Amino acid sequence: MVIETKYDVGDVLIPIASVGKGGPCRLCEGKGHVKLSDGAIYTCPRCSGHKRESCGLEWRCMKSCTLTGFSLWGDKQGLQQTSYSDAHGERHTEHDLFPTEAEAQAECDRRNKED
Ligand SMILES: [Zn+2]
Repeated sequence: MVIETKYDVGDVLIPIASVGKGGPCRLCEGKGHVKLSDGAIYTCPRCSGHKRESCGLEWRCMKSCTLTGFSLWGDKQGLQQTSYSDAHGERHTEHDLFPTEAEAQAECDRRNKED
């Protein structure tokens, strides 16, 4: 059996991942508190005083990684998935890895537009 993988052990690649996107709280404008019309100041009810709120997920380029191994599995229909491990012990699937940062960023942009 010959196993062909898109990438090889030792390749340095840019993984992408979906991460929580945070921004300044829109209710208190990042102050962490709100002022009522009588001048009383309350902890912001939206961000609980943290000044930031989460706005869903976005795809981002991660730090480049060196592949140290891969595993492969398939089913009777011939569907095949390749997953790679890197030097930090993290696992990445093939469609989340790119040879250059430009390609990784282009894919992030494409996926972020889809959501
Ligand atoms: Zn707030």
